Amino acid sequence: MKAVLKKERAVGFTVEDVDVPKIGDGEILVKVEVASICGTDVHIYDWNDWAQKHVNPPLIAGHEFAGVVVDKGKAVNRVNIGDFVSSETHIYCNHCDMCLMNHREVCRNLKILGVDTNGAFAEYVKIPERVAWINPKEISHKFASIQEPLGNAVDTVLAEDVSGKTVLVTGAGPIGLLAIGVARVFGATKIFVSDLSNYHLEIAKQMGADVVVNPKEADLKEAVLDGTHGLGVDVTLEMSGSKSALKDALSLTKYCGRISLLGLFDNEVQIDLTDSVIFKKVRIYGITGRRIFETWQIVSSLLSSGRLDVSPVITHEFKLEEIEKGVELMKTYQSGKILLYP
Ligand code: NAD
Ligand code: ZN
Repeated sequence: MKAVLKKERAVGFTVEDVDVPKIGDGEILVKVEVASICGTDVHIYDWNDWAQKHVNPPLIAGHEFAGVVVDKGKAVNRVNIGDFVSSETHIYCNHCDMCLMNHREVCRNLKILGVDTNGAFAEYVKIPERVAWINPKEISHKFASIQEPLGNAVDTVLAEDVSGKTVLVTGAGPIGLLAIGVARVFGATKIFVSDLSNYHLEIAKQMGADVVVNPKEADLKEAVLDGTHGLGVDVTLEMSGSKSALKDALSLTKYCGRISLLGLFDNEVQIDLTDSVIFKKVRIYGITGRRIFETWQIVSSLLSSGRLDVSPVITHEFKLEEIEKGVELMKTYQSGKILLYP
């Protein structure tokens, strides 16, 4: 089968013919219909510090996908051949303390598809049955592969209720853009968005942002304070991993407000906890992955009901072998989600 390989400990991917994976008793084989590129794939392609520490080539990259089950192991009984599935990418163990407490997203023995195990940028991928999510018939096949990042967005937004609240999203990359749509559906009253890419800010407007600001070109603080009677926002969703955006988040969230942190920082961050968090009684949540499978249920029903339209976020569609074009485009911040077809 055709597959995108991280073949060596160096920059780049190669597209090659490899063997179709052989499944074990508890596994299913999925024919990939559509996949999408994540920032993690860009890191693996670029062979940055993080990738050098976490990835052991040769490896088939890719973890966001949807496809049809074509074979199943002897012990598989929930999933059937012919099911259209997506996959939770956090392969949890199901027996550590966190898994037993229903916090599988922070399983202590976590393996990540396409990082620790061969992934989905291929014609076929094998996954354990326990991480398969069977998609409802109504779901658009085009949207089925982005449920994994949409799950990140849902958990970031819904760490607490947003109905009737003002929201600031710092960082309108693909996940921030999805979060804008989610916040809108769940009843946020005014959504402010900051990003350094005007291309991303245009999509932010289509996703339901009320006020968009490029902090390089305009005063974010003035825009937020003007739009919140000088008080700041009830909720900030930090989705950039930028230290200056985190500063914005801390200074523009109002007293007794909430901040959800999804963006990952390259290194340690220094913040003034006393004045910007403690004396303001701000609640801060760390968000990782998705609740398995509570979040999938929400994502699935948002998409299959048509209540959330994610089409503005999908900006490009390429053949699998054109992956390099997709990765390079993502690095210019002139794209949203990029879909790949094997
Ligand atoms: P992305 O890199 O495509 O998006 C980040 C966006 O932030 C970009 O549009 C960039 O222009 C913008 N940005 C940079 N500096 C900014 C600033 N000072 N102010 C405002 N915006 C700024 O990433 P993504 O795929 O959308 O993911 C968002 C973040 O979430 C990334 O940091 C990613 O590493 C992280 N992430 C975390 C998890 C998790 O489980 N916690 C999962 C996936 C991704
Ligand atoms: Zn576990």
